[in-house]
Amino acid sequence: MDLLNKIAVVTGAGSGIGRASSIKLASNGAKVVVVDFNKETGEETLHLIKEQGGEGIFVQADVSKSEDVQNYVKAAIETFGRIDVFFNNAGIIQRISPLTEIDDAEYDRIMSVNVKGVFLGLKYVLKVMEGQGSGSIINTASTAGVRSEHSLAVYSASKHAVVGLTKSASLEYVKKGIRINAICPGGVQTALTNSVTEMFETNGYVPDELPNMRMGRYAAPEELAEMVAFLASDRASYMTGSIVLVDGGLTL
Ligand code: NAD
Repeated sequence: MDLLNKIAVVTGAGSGIGRASSIKLASNGAKVVVVDFNKETGEETLHLIKEQGGEGIFVQADVSKSEDVQNYVKAAIETFGRIDVFFNNAGIIQRISPLTEIDDAEYDRIMSVNVKGVFLGLKYVLKVMEGQGSGSIINTASTAGVRSEHSLAVYSASKHAVVGLTKSASLEYVKKGIRINAICPGGVQTALTNSVTEMFETNGYVPDELPNMRMGRYAAPEELAEMVAFLASDRASYMTGSIVLVDGGLTL
């Protein structure tokens, strides 16, 4: 229970890595502000937390909208008075496609959630943490944020941006008691990954180079949640600005 009575905000908490991490943080003692734009799945995550004896609230928000981000931060403060842990995780996958066939609207859609959403979360949560003089932030990047990714150029660019935001923010806040790190999952068994498989099946388009699952399997979301809980806690007290691969050797 190394997060006992800590307050954690998790975005994209209605599914996959965000849900598994919300449950893990709660089981380590944190009270969790569950944020997602999907009301049904977000409330389901809160229900799962409460079922295991945990505490939290659900806030519906689109992370790409400034007013929604300010609203989930406000709800966290009004309910619990502080934010100790922020898992800035919500993200979406691009339609698999050669770069020349990506339309402008698709570019804007990916960037607004994956980059603007992460930026806005940092902006408003950091204001709170700065006042407290403490906090731990974990952004979700991707292996696509540290190397090239075939047929996912915009997604890859968005995740490189998350790495850039993580490094810059961690440098700016290192003297203010706030640690900011990023995780880079490889392939995780989630709705996002299922949608990629579906895109292959419906479009009949398979990129020349598919990522190689070196362990012969995807990660379970819970395997990412372990790293999130570690980075959230004081066990990671000397880590900031780290871009942590949790990829089963994918990038080897
Ligand atoms: P997921 O689709 O299972 O969950 C994502 C959640 O984010 C969903 O509940 C969805 O409703 C929510 N969401 C999406 N857009 C939102 C918005 N604008 N505002 C609020 N909530 C929003 O996906 P996941 O695999 O758990 O992905 C979580 C993060 O991990 C993403 O940032 C993704 O890019 C990253 N990631 C995933 C993988 C993988 O293999 N699954 C690999 C690398 C990185």
